[in-house]
Amino acid sequence: ANRSFQEDDSIIDVGNGVKVGAENFMVCAGPCSVEDLDSTVELAIKLKDAGANSLRGGAFKPRTSPYSFQGLGVEGLKILNEAKKETGLPIVSELMGTDHLDTFVDMVDVIQIGARNMQNFDLLKALGQTNKPVYLKRGMSATIQEWLMSAEYIMAGGNNNVVLVERGIRTFETATRNTLDIQAVPVVQKESHLPIIVDPSHAAGVRYLIPSMAKSAVMAGANGLQIEVHEDPENAWSDGQQCLTPAEFKELMDTIKVLLEIE
Ligand code: PEP
Ligand code: MN
Repeated sequence: ANRSFQEDDSIIDVGNGVKVGAENFMVCAGPCSVEDLDSTVELAIKLKDAGANSLRGGAFKPRTSPYSFQGLGVEGLKILNEAKKETGLPIVSELMGTDHLDTFVDMVDVIQIGARNMQNFDLLKALGQTNKPVYLKRGMSATIQEWLMSAEYIMAGGNNNVVLVERGIRTFETATRNTLDIQAVPVVQKESHLPIIVDPSHAAGVRYLIPSMAKSAVMAGANGLQIEVHEDPENAWSDGQQCLTPAEFKELMDTIKVLLEIE
């Protein structure tokens, strides 16, 4: 992952004409959890119209409480594939363990490894044996060096298709869910050739901060964004408090497009 092995920025092809890295900006948007077919397809159409170039949706959810909604499982991946068929958007979903690895290789374009699994080394090694693009989210208490070492676990097996996702870290601050480490963007880009995208949703944990943090990420030079959007955030099955509505997302995207021209 170190720049000393590769001077040029890595460009990762996630399929359906979407790339991330160097000049290629990836906007991945969608609900925290996939809920049902119709709402997912309708939302995907709106996200694409607003300028998203990939669709996220959790089907296997790493919830803090075992009594919270755990995700639709493989059914959720099928729904995402219907939305992909309808919109052409490549799909991103979280894999929590090696037992479903083959299913994910077949059914998603990008395998997301969540913050809680950033140092699940057996899982990372297994991903190294595939050639699937991987979104490697930063652990909530991980240093940048530890995060890059986790990327190394995937790359050591021969899979160089790693995208780093800054999603906020735990600090003493309680006004927000986590603290977005915007400095991680230039630090990672100095240390590594891998693309880094920013997830302001899980960093902030509250809706009103998403637009300002997303714009900050663009100006810091991030290679993309991952943003949670829900048609009806108040009634979302997970993370509703941090989801934008489709209209809010479109408004943000209109600004992001202008900023990308400046940047
Ligand atoms: C998610 O993307 O829905 C998620 C659970 O993210 P994180 O692993 O960053 O908490
Ligand atoms: Mn979420």
